[in-house]
Amino acid sequence: MAQKHPIRLISKAFLLATGLFCLLLAGSLTQAASTTDGLPFITGENLREGISLRGQWRFKPGDSIAWATPAVDDSSWSSMAVPDRWPSGGFPESGQMAWYRLSLRLDPELVRESQISQLAVRIGKVLSAYELYAGGKLVGGVGSLPPLSEVIYDQERVFAIPTSAISKDNVLILALRVWGGDEALVKAWSGGPISGVYMLGQYRELVLEGMVSEVPGLLFCALILGFGCYYLYLYGRNRKLSTYLWFGLMALNIGIYGLMLTQWKYLFDISFIAMKKIELGAIYIFPALAIQMLWSLLRLPIGPLLRAYQVSFVLVSMIVVVVPGDIIHYQTLSWWQLWTLPAIATALWVMVGQVRVGNPEAKTVLLGAIIFLATAINDLLIDLVYLDSVRLAPLGFVAILLAMAVSMANRFTAMYSKLESEVAERTADLSAANRRLAEAARVDHLTGLLNRRGFTEEAETEIRRMFRSGKSFSLVLTDVDNFKSFNDRHGHVCGDHVLKRMASILEERTRDVDRIARWGGEEFILLLPETETEGAANLAEKLRESIAENVFEFDNQRLKITMTFGIASFRRGESLDTCIARADTALYHGKEGGRNKVMIGNYKGLSVVS
Ligand code: GH3
Ligand code: MG
Ligand code: MG
Repeated sequence: MAQKHPIRLISKAFLLATGLFCLLLAGSLTQAASTTDGLPFITGENLREGISLRGQWRFKPGDSIAWATPAVDDSSWSSMAVPDRWPSGGFPESGQMAWYRLSLRLDPELVRESQISQLAVRIGKVLSAYELYAGGKLVGGVGSLPPLSEVIYDQERVFAIPTSAISKDNVLILALRVWGGDEALVKAWSGGPISGVYMLGQYRELVLEGMVSEVPGLLFCALILGFGCYYLYLYGRNRKLSTYLWFGLMALNIGIYGLMLTQWKYLFDISFIAMKKIELGAIYIFPALAIQMLWSLLRLPIGPLLRAYQVSFVLVSMIVVVVPGDIIHYQTLSWWQLWTLPAIATALWVMVGQVRVGNPEAKTVLLGAIIFLATAINDLLIDLVYLDSVRLAPLGFVAILLAMAVSMANRFTAMYSKLESEVAERTADLSAANRRLAEAARVDHLTGLLNRRGFTEEAETEIRRMFRSGKSFSLVLTDVDNFKSFNDRHGHVCGDHVLKRMASILEERTRDVDRIARWGGEEFILLLPETETEGAANLAEKLRESIAENVFEFDNQRLKITMTFGIASFRRGESLDTCIARADTALYHGKEGGRNKVMIGNYKGLSVVS
């Protein structure tokens, strides 16, 4: 029995569509009716639709070119299923050579109407090189048989069958001369027709079907490769997204591997063995990439042991690629298969653990991995116990890719939401800081009163309000008397203390709605809403008295000081500056008049309050 590895089964992913096509084709194929001599009977309809040549062929190990001729009696040959592998170990005594023969009887009508001019046979994958004979004539082959042995074992091909190959009694005898490959290859993989489509039909249709059936596989590869490139591009744009790098590389790895499993690879002008190297390199390195991808997705650190394990895959992959021929592959494959088991077990173990600790990515990835494993087991059973089922590994592989993509999308969404809430939080902080700054820009540091800027804003607001309510306000400008000499006598610190105290007195003696600001060094200004000149004069007088009577205590000194006040009521039509200027003029005259006074600045002139 041939050895198969789950990873190798992944390869079938890319043949999913091909497989489905084959199934459809198989379903639509009509089984040829047998004639009295037991030969399958081929009708015109059979030919038009194509008729499957899968089934029992005559089989004989060994090699004699005479076995190609129709005259040979093969009735004593054994029977062997096509496609299937011949017994493991093969036929070393015959140089791993064997023959397959199939006799078909064509409807005489076909031959008479010459409907057979386009006759062709499609041969699926054969291990490893073969020649096809029809009616004793060589019609072609793949690879070359010993002594010029050349291994090419997975090329499907359509061969035109010459009309002359059909005998006079309308019998067509096909003979397949197969070389399984050298002993090592046969030991590892056995030999003979192994898979694919075996069919008799019209040349054009067979070629077309062959191409069409490979299109989905190619598209699938293109999709995965595109996916891979796109994720690498995303990583290129943001080097922090290392998961994208590993996902991209993994997808590229799988895409290239898949491409190597389609017939399209023969479009490239690369030797068969070089293409095998690419394919094998991709398989052998896969566990290393998968671990890197998974651990990165789950944001887990890779310890030294796991790292060494990973490196071992990279090394084996390199050795398989570098050592000439693919003999090393046959020798390492079973060991490598065993060596991947810890990777599968560890990955599952870690994922289950991560699901337990609530890693948000683990559930999705685990689900994908379980689906993949289930499909891989299904396919293994198809190979091992001939389970009558459809190959599912392709879907399993899609599940893994989808799980990874979904998980990365989830992670991205989570990252995005986190980022958004962080931005919102920062914006709120910033707005608060801005508000505090704006507030600070309106306040005087020493006294805690509004500063000139804050006051101006408030006054502008009050002016607008006044226009709505019709109720005017008054301004009181006040300046400490002889403060220069006060400072000179008692010191600047004492002066500051007095200014602060004055601010408190002004605040205590006014209403809440009144606005008080430090206008300059030792100058204050008051805005008294809905207050006419008279009210303002009364208040100013009260304040003047309070200040004059107040005893300022500082450093055990009891100090007295006075202030002079200038008043102006705001009149419609004038600006704030004009109104302040009137108050200032009044204040100036108060100073002139001897200080410790209250003066009103009217339109017409000044009037003294005290
Ligand atoms: P006048 O009665 O004419 O207003 O005399 P004055 O000395 O108060 O006026 P002048 O404009 O000549 O001097 C103002 C003084 O106020 C000068 C400065 O020493 C003092 N001053 C201004 N700002 C501060 C301050 O923040 N702290 C202290 N301690 N003194 C200040
Ligand atoms: Mg002054
Ligand atoms: Mg002064």
